[in-house]
Amino acid sequence: MENPYQDAIKQLEEARPYLDAPADMVEQLKFPKRFIRKLLSVKMDDGKIRKFPAFRSQHNDARGPFKGGIRYHPQVNEAEMKALSLWMTWKCAVVGIPFGGAKGGVVVDPKTLSSGELERLSRAYMRVFAPYFGAWKDVPAPDLNTNAQIMAWMVDEYQKIQSQKSKVKSQNDESPYAVITGKPVALGGSLGREEATGFGGSIILKLLAAKLGLKKRHATIAIQGFGNVGYWFAHFADKAGFTVVAAGDSKGAVSVPKGLNPQLTLACKEEKGKIASCYCVGSVCDLRHGKAISDDELLTLDVDVLVPAAMEGVIGIHNVQSVRAKAIIEMANGPVTEAAAVVLRKKGVVLVPDILANAGGVTASYFEWVQNLSGYYWTKTLVFERLGEIMEAAFAAVWELAQEKKVDLHTAAYILAVQRVADAMMLRGHRAEGKGNF
Ligand code: NAD
Repeated sequence: MENPYQDAIKQLEEARPYLDAPADMVEQLKFPKRFIRKLLSVKMDDGKIRKFPAFRSQHNDARGPFKGGIRYHPQVNEAEMKALSLWMTWKCAVVGIPFGGAKGGVVVDPKTLSSGELERLSRAYMRVFAPYFGAWKDVPAPDLNTNAQIMAWMVDEYQKIQSQKSKVKSQNDESPYAVITGKPVALGGSLGREEATGFGGSIILKLLAAKLGLKKRHATIAIQGFGNVGYWFAHFADKAGFTVVAAGDSKGAVSVPKGLNPQLTLACKEEKGKIASCYCVGSVCDLRHGKAISDDELLTLDVDVLVPAAMEGVIGIHNVQSVRAKAIIEMANGPVTEAAAVVLRKKGVVLVPDILANAGGVTASYFEWVQNLSGYYWTKTLVFERLGEIMEAAFAAVWELAQEKKVDLHTAAYILAVQRVADAMMLRGHRAEGKGNF
C-alpha cells in the first residue's frame, strides 16, 4: 500500500493553490503539533511483563480540542498515525464541529489478548497519555479494534488519576465523562453513536443521488465491509429505497442483483461467520437469489455507487482501472489512494471524500461531548435530526465550492476544511512553530 502520510501531504498540496493562507502555515499543517511515543508495560496472565509501543499524534487544535480515535493493530505505525491525525483535523473542519485532529494507537494484535490483558493494556494507555488528554485538550474515542468497553476502562482510569490529583490540588471541575467519547450509554455515551457513521453516509448518498439524477430503487450500491459502518450504511440506504446489490467482509462477498436485505444478511453473517456463506442460487441456501463473489470482484462491479467501508488503500494503482462504479463514497478512512484518485477523476468517477462521507461518527462524538459537558442527554431522534442537518450543510458547502472553483469534490472538501483551520490559526495570531516536537 502507498504511504498514507505521503498521501495526506499530497492532498494538502492539492488544496494549496486555492488557499488564502501564508505559505509557512500550510507547511506547518503538514506536521502534527505534537507526536508522543511511549512504551506500555503490561502484566500478562502468565505473570510476565510485555512492552507495547503506543502513540498519540496531535495534529492541530486551532479550532478546538484535539479529537481522534485510538486503534489497536499490529500494523499501527507512525506514518499511519500522522496521516490519520491530519484527516481528523480536516474532517472536523469540513463539518464545522469545534475540534482539531489527533489519532492514537498501540502496536498489538488484540485478538491474542485475554480480556484481563486487554483491560490492563487499555488502562496502561490511559495512565501514560492522561497528561495529554482532557475535555478541553484532547478527546479520544474508539477506532479499529477498540470499542465502548475499552473506552469505559479508559474513562474509569482517567477519573482515578484525576481524583488522586484532586486530593492534593483543588477540586477537579472538569466534566468527568467529557474526556473520551464512544462510551457505553450507561457511562455517558450518546444514543445514536453506533449508527451515526453509516447514517451520515446514507445522507450523503441521498444528496449525491439527487445531484447525479440517480433514481433510488434503480440505483445500485456495492458495499465493501459489513461491520459497524458498512452495515448501518446498508441499513439506512435500504430504508431510503436504494438497492444494495453486493456486500462483503474480510472473508469474501456476495452479489445479489435483486437487492439484499441488510438485517437478514447481518443475522446470517453472524451465524455463519461470513457473508459469503449466506446467499445461493440453488435450493440449499439461507438467503436466495445471490452468489458468492470475491472481494476484488465486489470492487469492480458495474454499480452506480461503490462504498468502500472496510480499510485503507483498497483501491489503488493495482485495481483502479477495473473500477466501473459511477461514484464512490469513501466510508472507510483513505480507501482510495491518491494515485488511484487521479485516475478515477480522469475516468469521470465522482469521488466523495472520507473527510466528508464518514464524518457522521465524529459529529455524533461531538454531540456526546456536548451532552457530557451540559449534563443534558438527547433522544436518538434528536441526535439523528441534528446529524442530518450537519451532514446536509457540509455536503452543500462542498458541492457549491466544487462548482465555484471548478474542482472535484475531494479538492473542494480539502479547500473548505484547510481554509477553516487556517482562518482559526490566523485569528489566533499564527506564529510559525517550527515542525512540532515529533
Ligand atoms: P469494523 O471492524 O466494525 O468493520 C470492518 C469491516 O471490514 C468488517 O466487516 C471486516 O470483515 C471488513 N474487512 C476487514 N478487512 C477487509 C478486507 N481486507 N476486505 C474486505 N473487508 C474487510 O470497522 P468499522 O468501524 O465499520 O470501520 C470501517 C472503516 O471505517 C475503517 O476504515 C474506519 O477507520 C472507518 N471509520 C469508522 C468510523 C466509525 O464510527 N466506526 C468512523 C469513521 C471512519
